[in-house]
Amino acid sequence: MSTTEQRVAVVTGAARGIGAATAVRLAAEGRAVAVIDLDEAACKDTVDKITAAGGKAIAVGADVSDEAQVEAAVARIVAELGAPTILVNNAGVLRDNLLFKMSVSDWDTVLNVHLRGSFLMTKAVQKHMVDAGFGRVVNLSSSSALGNRGQANYSAAKAGLQGFTKTLAIELGKFGITANAVAPGFIATEMTKATADRVGMGFDDFKKAAASAIPVQRVGEPEDIANAIAFFTGEAAGFVSGQVLYVAGGPLD
Ligand code: NAP
Repeated sequence: MSTTEQRVAVVTGAARGIGAATAVRLAAEGRAVAVIDLDEAACKDTVDKITAAGGKAIAVGADVSDEAQVEAAVARIVAELGAPTILVNNAGVLRDNLLFKMSVSDWDTVLNVHLRGSFLMTKAVQKHMVDAGFGRVVNLSSSSALGNRGQANYSAAKAGLQGFTKTLAIELGKFGITANAVAPGFIATEMTKATADRVGMGFDDFKKAAASAIPVQRVGEPEDIANAIAFFTGEAAGFVSGQVLYVAGGPLD
């Protein structure tokens, strides 16, 4: 890559939350960013934030669990921004319930978005990384990968992503591609707000209760996760691969 060329990063689920903060952060690091989310119009805020700061970004509407939509999205990114060599698989949904009440469709939805979505996106993008002899994949796992009541589907998907990440690191390392997972603890976003709503708690009380159990005594912000992702996607992180980093304000394993 010449010094004047900009690397192209793809961030899924980037209309809001951790994905939006990551897209903004990677653009600030000089990457051209494809902001993917289900609803293309919903990506506008993230794109506007990036372009207002002098960065380059496009909005792309796609369901990451749909093979044809993923292929069309990546083709558009190649045409409009260039070949992507950084991929952050961040799109996610919750369908929490105790196992005996969990529907098959809630199981399938969660596994499809997190696992199938990360598989499809990585498969579509990796050929561009191989051609470039450089790539950075970051998958969003979760502290729930260690097990969490009411999240059989989500914890299985997030644990699955850790195995997926390690296998990518093994298979793709010889092409200059690294793969790592960031596993957040409690981060204040629409996702955790929805959980507060579901259990009938105000979001401030919910965050306060969570913070009291976290060693650093606060909940995380999307930028805390964007920082870790920026490290893994950096030019200097080429010898860091196949790792799972818990970013949770304290130790987890
Ligand atoms: P969020 O605020 O709910 O944002 C997730 C985004 O993903 C939404 O914009 C959502 O769009 C989009 N999305 C959902 N399904 C999609 C699909 N099939 N294709 C494309 N986009 C899709 O979530 P967040 O809290 O920022 O979480 C981001 C990631 O971090 C997720 O993978 C999550 O599991 C993980 N994580 C979060 C926490 C936390 O405490 N917040 C902790 C651990 C891990 P719609 O709004 O249209 O559904």
